[in-house]
Amino acid sequence: MPTTGAVSGVVRALAEADFGAVAQRFSDAGFTVGLPARGIMTVKAAAGSGRASVLVSVGVHGDETGPIEVVAHVLDALSQQPAMLAVDLMVCVGNIDAIAAGKRFIDADLNRMFRPVRGSLADAAEAARADTMIAATDAFFAGAGPLRWHLDLHTAIRPSVYPTFAIVPDLIAEQGKQALIGWLGQAAIGAIIMNPQSAGTYSYYSAEFHAAAASTVELGRVGTLGQNDLSQFADVAEALDGLLRGAPPAAAKTAPHVFKVAQQIMKLSDGFTMAFDRSTQNFTALRQGEVIATDGDTVYAVQHPEELVVFPNPDVRVGLRAGLMVVRTA
Ligand SMILES: [Zn+2]
Repeated sequence: MPTTGAVSGVVRALAEADFGAVAQRFSDAGFTVGLPARGIMTVKAAAGSGRASVLVSVGVHGDETGPIEVVAHVLDALSQQPAMLAVDLMVCVGNIDAIAAGKRFIDADLNRMFRPVRGSLADAAEAARADTMIAATDAFFAGAGPLRWHLDLHTAIRPSVYPTFAIVPDLIAEQGKQALIGWLGQAAIGAIIMNPQSAGTYSYYSAEFHAAAASTVELGRVGTLGQNDLSQFADVAEALDGLLRGAPPAAAKTAPHVFKVAQQIMKLSDGFTMAFDRSTQNFTALRQGEVIATDGDTVYAVQHPEELVVFPNPDVRVGLRAGLMVVRTA
């Protein structure tokens, strides 16, 4: 595990999927605490409380350690004032084995497995973990009221024109979507991409199958556990703390720029080549007619006057998304 003496106990515990002290404090305060699987904790008040149900997930990519630190500190502080918890909560530490190995994944990208058909990913080591997370998520939302959230916290693997941004499924009902966008503004998220189509991500699953206001939130750059500059996460930590304590919505720190997906770039074969290298920043702009990628006879070119590339990754497996092209709407 890539840890040093600088890693605090609360951070190390969460990174190792150990909820011990936190679970005990909530339990002692009278909450119903569940540990349905390794790395998953639920904290619920009595049924019929009318509370929102909030799922917070971290470490779905094992090398994205910043959100683990953020959530560890928020949870630790909240568990010391347990009566302040105002929502039914599920915390999920995603790819525990990859976190321990300090890698993005062991076998294949866990965040492409939250859909019924997994294709070439079905045999990956991560498939069983996805099944476990899906089962726990289904159980958590099964008894939930209408106010449902899922914040899946990540950090990006490359620089970005917008250091923080979020992917929001288009299919979320309007009221939940507006609340979510308001929260993202409080968290000073710079850009929001409205996404019309699942890529098999965890947050899209919660939105599609459980009507949660769900988002994949990218919070800056990949860093080593215990060595992240937590000041870059201060706004999201404050917004998350407020959500869990039932604070009234606060003013946005940023009015996020809103984008919609213009096209998904799918890798169809091993002949796929892309006009980007690994140093390409997220939200790099291309002009109409420029070639994005070629794949045999298929040529992906920019259709709008300008499109911006997000998550370019020609190295994904065949059949998966190699990048998103987005256009600004607001
Ligand atoms: Zn990620």
